[in-house]
Amino acid sequence: MENEIRESVMDAIGNTPVVRLERLFPAADVVAKLEYMNPGGSIKDRMVRYMLRHMPEGTTRLVESSSGNTGAALAMASAVLGLECEVAVPECTSVEKVRRIGAYGARVHLCAQESGEGDYHAVARRIAAARGAFHLDQYASELNRLAHYHDTAPELWRQLGGELDVFVCGIGSGGTISGIGRYLKERNPNVRVIGVEPLNSSYRKLVTDRPAAGEFDTVIEGVGKRAPSRSFDPAVVDDVVQVPDGQALAWCRALATEEGILAGGSSGCVVAGIAEVLPRFHGARVAAVLPDSGAYYLSKYF
Ligand code: PMP
Repeated sequence: MENEIRESVMDAIGNTPVVRLERLFPAADVVAKLEYMNPGGSIKDRMVRYMLRHMPEGTTRLVESSSGNTGAALAMASAVLGLECEVAVPECTSVEKVRRIGAYGARVHLCAQESGEGDYHAVARRIAAARGAFHLDQYASELNRLAHYHDTAPELWRQLGGELDVFVCGIGSGGTISGIGRYLKERNPNVRVIGVEPLNSSYRKLVTDRPAAGEFDTVIEGVGKRAPSRSFDPAVVDDVVQVPDGQALAWCRALATEEGILAGGSSGCVVAGIAEVLPRFHGARVAAVLPDSGAYYLSKYF
């Protein structure tokens, strides 16, 4: 008899469900892909799995800068593969996310947000140089968006039966929107790709030329950047909308209380973005990706 046993938890990544958000948007056709169903708890499991397929032979140590989810995915993979893992995270990262990385046996470095030498990217670079660790570098590596192009996007396309008009996606490193956006537009050039970020983040200007009106400062983890990441590909993005934190959190709570979907703050940000652009797309099917779980922010948002 056949069985369905996976060789490791790495083989349990992906095939996450797509669910209709009918209670939040009864008059529209809005669906969301629940990436918190991945074993490491977020969409970053996919990127890490893809990147590790390309790691240099003989690698024994891994390092990454992460707002938390990539770190957890990397720590999970390192446990399975028997590798050493260090993760540099900004100090504003939720306590649940930091402890999750440590629970897999990885070492966590709490760093400044984005302020030169002490910032989490610089710390990861220093560790890579000092210890000869393989640095995944999601903010610069082309493998980030390729992971979503080759893995997340075709899965979403298949699950939708190729039927969608608008793809709405949060932007952090930009890997998700760039990889999925490219794939969808290759399949159907009429698909509109809309990015969502917190107020005064830097991506909107790249796409629309509209500059930020003030200082970038958000409590939403995972989305928004003071300076854009090289992983973002503006060529496949039609528009970027900016969402106040209060709206993102209100939609995040509504996802839980109306749809029974306990998702993170960036998911609330994405759904707030959907609510904003829906009036532009009458009768359209709108698809989104919800990157992680609200369980990692119980002490922060709920
Ligand atoms: N939401 C959360 C919770 C994340 O951790 C990330 C990754 N930084 C994103 C959204 C954005 O994804 P990407 O980095 O692919 O733009």
